[in-house]
Parts: sequence; C-alpha cells; structure tokens
Amino acid sequence: MQYNSTRDNSIRVSSAQAIKQGLSSEGGLFVPESFPAVSLEEIVSLASRSYHDIAYFILSKFLTDFSGDDLKKCIASAYTKEKFGTDAIAPVYKLNGHTYFLELWHGPTCAFKDMALQILPHFLTTSMKMTNENEEIIILVATSGDTGKAALEGFRDVNGTRIIVFYPDNGVSEIQKLQMVTQRGNNVSVAAVKGNFDDAQNGVKKIFTDEEYKELLDRNGFKLSSANSINWGRLVPQIVYYFSAYADLLSSKEIEAGEEINIVVPTGNFGNILAAYYAKKMGLPVKRLICASNENNVLTDFIKTGVYDKNRRFHTTISPSMDILISSNLERFLYDLSGRDDRLISELMAKLTADGKYTVPSDIKAGIDAMFDAGCSDDKETMEAIRNTFNASGYTMDTHTAVAKSVYDKYVTRTGDMTKTVIASTASPFKFNQSVLIALEDYNAVAGKDEFELLSMLEKKSGLRVPKSLAGLQNRTPIFDTVVEKEQMENYVSDFLKVE
Ligand SMILES: *Cc1c(COP(=O)(O)O)cnc(C)c1O
Repeated sequence: MQYNSTRDNSIRVSSAQAIKQGLSSEGGLFVPESFPAVSLEEIVSLASRSYHDIAYFILSKFLTDFSGDDLKKCIASAYTKEKFGTDAIAPVYKLNGHTYFLELWHGPTCAFKDMALQILPHFLTTSMKMTNENEEIIILVATSGDTGKAALEGFRDVNGTRIIVFYPDNGVSEIQKLQMVTQRGNNVSVAAVKGNFDDAQNGVKKIFTDEEYKELLDRNGFKLSSANSINWGRLVPQIVYYFSAYADLLSSKEIEAGEEINIVVPTGNFGNILAAYYAKKMGLPVKRLICASNENNVLTDFIKTGVYDKNRRFHTTISPSMDILISSNLERFLYDLSGRDDRLISELMAKLTADGKYTVPSDIKAGIDAMFDAGCSDDKETMEAIRNTFNASGYTMDTHTAVAKSVYDKYVTRTGDMTKTVIASTASPFKFNQSVLIALEDYNAVAGKDEFELLSMLEKKSGLRVPKSLAGLQNRTPIFDTVVEKEQMENYVSDFLKVE
C-alpha cells in the first residue's frame, strides 16, 4: 500500500515514510492510495476476537510495509490492560435500547487521543528502523488540551525521540494544564502560547514549512515530525475501534450481522469522524455519520451548506478540545469525496488560506448529504444533556461526549430515526469535573473548590472512581511555566534543542 498527498497525486510514499514525515512537503496530507474492503463475513468473524486481534486485522491492511511481528509488537506495547485498565480497551456501554457509548477514554490520560498516541511512537520508531535512519525524531505538537498530554505520555522516554508541546494559554482546562506542566520524562518540553488553538497550530505549521529551519535541524541530527491528527499514524488506529464497537454489538447480540448503525462523533479537527467514515468506506455497516460541534460550529454549517467559512468569532467553550475553526482532517475527506482531485483540493486549501473560506462543488455536497448529518450544541444545551442523561439513567458524561449526545437527541427529534446508534465518548467526566459538576449540581456547589476537591465530589456524585492518573496529580510540582508569543515558538524549539 502506497500513500499519496491530497495536494499532489504524483507523490507516492510507503506507510513508514508517511508516518515519519507527518505532512507532505507541499503541505498536503498523506492518504492511502486505496481503501481495503472488509466483507461482512470478516466483520462477523471479528465478533469473538480481542482488541489486539481486531487492531492487527485492520492495521495490517494499511501498514503493509511493516512486518507482521513488528506490527504485533506495536499493538502489544500500546494497548495493555495496565494502561487502559480493561482488556476491552474501548468498551461499549449500553445506555438504552438504541443508544450506546463507545468509551474511548480508558487510557493513561483519560481521553480518546490515547487510542492513537499510545501506538504512534511505536509506529514512528519502527518506521525509522525500517528506513535505516538514525536521526533523532523531534515531535512538535499544538494542542487544544488532550492531544498534548496524550502525546507526552506516549513519547516520554521513548529512545530516539524528543517532544515539545505548545498549548493555548487560555484554552485548556485546569486539569489539562496540570497534566501537561507536571509531565515527567527526560525528552519532553511544554510551553503555553499567547493566543488560541489555531494560533498554536499555525505556529507549528509554520515551523514545519520553514525549509531553512529544517536544514538547520538536519545539520544537528534532528528530524521534525508531527503527532497531530494530520499524521496518518494517528488516524489509522482510530479506524480500529469502530470495527471493535460493531464487533462488540454483534457478540452481545444487540445488532444482527449486517445491520446498519449510526455513529455520532463530537468533532474538532474532523479526525475521529473521518476514521468512522473510512470504516464505513471499508464496509462497516453504517447508515449515518453525525458530526457534532460545540458553538464553534464551522463544521455544522459546512455540512449543511457546502460553504466552509472560518471567518467567525472564536468561542471558548466547556468542551475546549473542540474549540477549533480550522479542521485539518477535512482535507482528507474532501479529497476522497472529489474522487482524489488533488488540483481541486490545492485550490480549496489555497482559498482557505487566502480568504478563510471556500465552497465545494455540488457533487461533493451531494456526497456529504448522502452520508452525513450535523448539528451543534451550545454550553447550555450541553449542560442540560449531562444533567438529563444522569437523571434518566445514572450515566455521567464529560462535556465533549455531552455535545454529541445533545446533537444526537436533536437529530432523533428532528428525523425520528431510531437506528441503533453509537456515540463516541471521548473523555472521562473527571477530566472536565468542574463543568460536569455544575451541570449535575449548580455553580454554588463548585464555588471556591480546588480541582482535587472537585474530583472527590464527582466521585461521590457519579459513583465512579477517580482515575489514578488524575488523583496522582495532586502531589506533583509544575515543571514547565514558560509562556511564549506565537512568533517566538521557533526560538523556543531552538533553545530546547540547543541549536543556533
Ligand atoms: C480531540 C478531542 C475531540 C475532537 O476530536 P477530533 O479528532 O479533533 O475531531 C473530542 N473530544 C475530546 C475529549 C478530544 O480530546
């Protein structure tokens, strides 16, 4: 299997190369040249298999240059019971007769990004070994909260790698910030950037496209790579859990073989929902993909109108990991829907850079309409969803999952569609404890309480245990306190690597 760039079909690289490079040199994203088909028989045969087996089944179709042994080692190192607290890795929770939560947050940082970022470092070091390179890999991450910590945990002390994480100084929760600034490991660095997530992400993108700077790093034995969701090595592990969810529903007899399900995904960068789209494309029986946004509803408008327009106010919401106005992975989706039209994609992305806006041709719009639905939920509705779901069934959702639930409820009311539906549950409620508690109690209940008091309050209220990794934060001293201007990010990298 070879990989093309969304902006240049003549570029063809192996999966090891695509994973190592992260972004194609002209700015496009790597995509597989074709999508392997999975038959219904094969899907049915997954029903009794472990997460490791399902991961191997899917990943080996895409990472064809990895040896079977290497791939199995990557999977075994990433998805352990020790790290995920359960052999199921991504268990499905039944809320009622037609609604299921796919819990993607049992990993070490309590959010779904662990699903990809626990395995990416192993993909990367394997890829370096396969291509006989011995430069040190430098991972640069711009994060709206969860990616940063998940990447730090994934890469810490992995030989041959170093990692630098930038987060927006006012765009992450207290817990998220604490998780990052107390990170241990001898190859890690963390800095706040003055601005929002897009500022941090644009800063990182600028470093990636600065050829002179790359040469400087190269002379010093460093190779830049990305752990952001634009890296193919981030995206491909996410396809796995949609198959595993379907397999779970089959083995628990919730669905019949071949029965179509809906999937709802709380979306920011369009990565997680793109993986669901790829699963559908490969043959997973999916009827509708429902894209859920918070008040930063650029994707809702796009899916409804075909016009992507980021020229709008940026909102800081209670679901900060979705506070995004440029959804990078949408590019891969448009590339696919346009029949791999690299020229069109280059044009659209140039328009996005120049005008902050583009309109897709009508055939692409028709393709979207055939598969997708979309909706958004403001903070008030999201709070209501948390409260109503808890009161109705005792299930506690985090704010991101609640955006999806809120959008799903509105979808059902609007369409009457009672198809069995899997909602991607993307974070532990403890990670966003303050907002969750305000929803379940009120503002007064949380007033004046610190993060750790809130954790134990939520433990009592929800009946769930505080995840160990969060409880342990209390005794950690912050290590990283630097705040940089967005123009200073490159200097920060140079200082950390000691290059001039
Ligand atoms: C990153 C994140 C999302 C959004 O995922 P995308 O792949 O960017 O669409 C949703 N919820 C949580 C908790 C996240 O960390």
